[in-house]
Amino acid sequence: MSSSHHITTLKNSLIEFSKELQTTSTQVISSPRPAPQRLSATTKIKDSTLRRKVTELETDLNKACTHFKKVAFSTSLGLEDQVLTYIIAKNNLPIDIFTLDTGRLFKETYELLHETSHKYKPIRVYYPNTEEIETYVTTHGINGFKEAISLRKKCCAIRKIHPLKRALSQAELWITGIRNEQSPERSTAPSLEIAHEYRIIKFNPLIHWSYEETRTVVKTYKILYNPLHDNGFPSIGCAPCTRAVKPNEPARAGRWWWELSTTRECGLHTSSSPTQPSISSTT
Ligand code: SF4
Repeated sequence: MSSSHHITTLKNSLIEFSKELQTTSTQVISSPRPAPQRLSATTKIKDSTLRRKVTELETDLNKACTHFKKVAFSTSLGLEDQVLTYIIAKNNLPIDIFTLDTGRLFKETYELLHETSHKYKPIRVYYPNTEEIETYVTTHGINGFKEAISLRKKCCAIRKIHPLKRALSQAELWITGIRNEQSPERSTAPSLEIAHEYRIIKFNPLIHWSYEETRTVVKTYKILYNPLHDNGFPSIGCAPCTRAVKPNEPARAGRWWWELSTTRECGLHTSSSPTQPSISSTT
């Protein structure tokens, strides 16, 4: 299939799926809410609100499985991803769950991966290409990513983006746990978009969930989560590239904190082209 024909097919499929999603009771097409620059204190969320959000999430994921034959969910085992894994397992949804083991994760993340795979659903683990890693480390050193942004991006490409491309190669729909609140870069991300780099439709069902809602669902349903979240790590990536955030710092301020650039992305979730269709909802 030619590239332009493939993109047209993706656009048509995205539009059809977005129509299905809009039949979920409270969903409307709207602009995303502005993202707060920091995590706010926990507020009391009504039980009915919480139940409605969880029910809508279950409905949307069921629709995804009806509409697409091969649905894949990438988890980094963060708070949001644990909510999605729990809901997928609870509803026995035919969604493949996978994660990327960069080889540099926190020990707490490896323990959570093991426990989550046993308690909820097996998680397939994708690894970087051995030759690529060996060449990088031989040339730039084991922590070469701290010497320049270009070397950091190269490390992220080898350890994350290349394995992600492999993981998504057979999928029709890619589900992620990103939220608008997480960073300025994610503040305008829609719930549905085409991820051109991976030639796939990307569905972000938690895009408008708040941190409080996510955390409350985790606590209410006693979902397994990374203990680092209780120690100042709202966002958890590779160990050498993540530190705890200080009070009032943005959620992703602890990622690659030594870089002067304000962008806190590794390239997995690049923004959509402004000309491509994207759908935002109030899920
Ligand atoms: S987060 Fe750091 S260690 Fe992990 S892949 Fe990126 S640069 Fe490499």
